[in-house]
Amino acid sequence: ADIALYCAKASDQERVCLFESHMQTQFETRKELAEDLRGAITRCEIHVAYQVQVDVKSGEVRGVEALARWTHPTHGPIPAPLFVSIAEEIGLINDLGLLVLTQACSEATKWNEGVKIAVNISSLQLQSVDIFNVIKKIIGDVGLDPRRLELEITESVLLDRREEVFQALYHLRHFGVSVAMDDFGTGYSSLAVLRDIQFDTIKLDKSFMRDLTSDPVNQTLVKFVGELSTLLRKELIIEGIETAEQYEVVRRLGCDTAQGYLLGRPSPASHLDYLHRREPGLIFGSIA
Ligand code: C2E
Ligand code: MG
Ligand code: MG
Ligand code: MG
Repeated sequence: ADIALYCAKASDQERVCLFESHMQTQFETRKELAEDLRGAITRCEIHVAYQVQVDVKSGEVRGVEALARWTHPTHGPIPAPLFVSIAEEIGLINDLGLLVLTQACSEATKWNEGVKIAVNISSLQLQSVDIFNVIKKIIGDVGLDPRRLELEITESVLLDRREEVFQALYHLRHFGVSVAMDDFGTGYSSLAVLRDIQFDTIKLDKSFMRDLTSDPVNQTLVKFVGELSTLLRKELIIEGIETAEQYEVVRRLGCDTAQGYLLGRPSPASHLDYLHRREPGLIFGSIA
């Protein structure tokens, strides 16, 4: 029942459901997977893949998004939405989050300084005690310029309107860290989020890319969010760009930043040579 409920909520629904039906023969319950996850986090067996974010106007690399990866010793790669939700459920999201944050920030210090590093932060993690000082300490320990870090949060931070969350976001932004609203447009209170949360970047949910070239409603919505972000002086990142046609539409509509399989799959940092180049001109010529 847990698994069915999870599947209904999952962002990468099909993939996760496929995975679940395959897993059912091997796992009695989600609980068993949870125990293995506990061990994997303790032994730091979670790794981070990075996906490029491209400045649409210049074709330069704007940043990379850190995405947690867990390869189970017998079951292979486990979908991120699945193990992240398990970590939230069993109280390990802080440990998982710190692992990813530390790994990503420390790797980023070795890269070209023009590249931002975006890290997903669960709403639960954001509510944890002293999150600002925890993040500040990680940045200080690894020696990262706070202005290179972006935290991706979701609208669910508004669910119970905790004062600590608003405070943490205020202090983080004051310290130089930027905040992106992830999966924008799919939550329960998009406009209230724009009004009530201080953030820098809108990440339009990838579902708006579906049938973009043939669907005039999605095109209108992308254009609308583009104009909205300009009026509100926020950067707009469009995620889920898989085809050159989608990229062309997004470019024409004046969006700032693009992310998706077309521009690059999430990969280990060692596979991404643009991270290690010194010169600022990191051009995606063939696409832009
Ligand atoms: P997200 O933050 O919205 O991340 C984007 C997801 O879309 C990633 O899935 C990425 O691999 C996928 N994606 C990128 N480009 C495309 C594309 O062109 N088409 C399609 N169909 N998908 C694309 P992934 O890595 O499976 O992560 C899924 C979700 O899991 C993330 O969604 C995020 O909510 C969560 N997540 C991943 N890593 C972490 C983490 O370290 N901490 C937390 N709290 N959540 C994480
Ligand atoms: Mg994200
Ligand atoms: Mg997203
Ligand atoms: Mg998400």
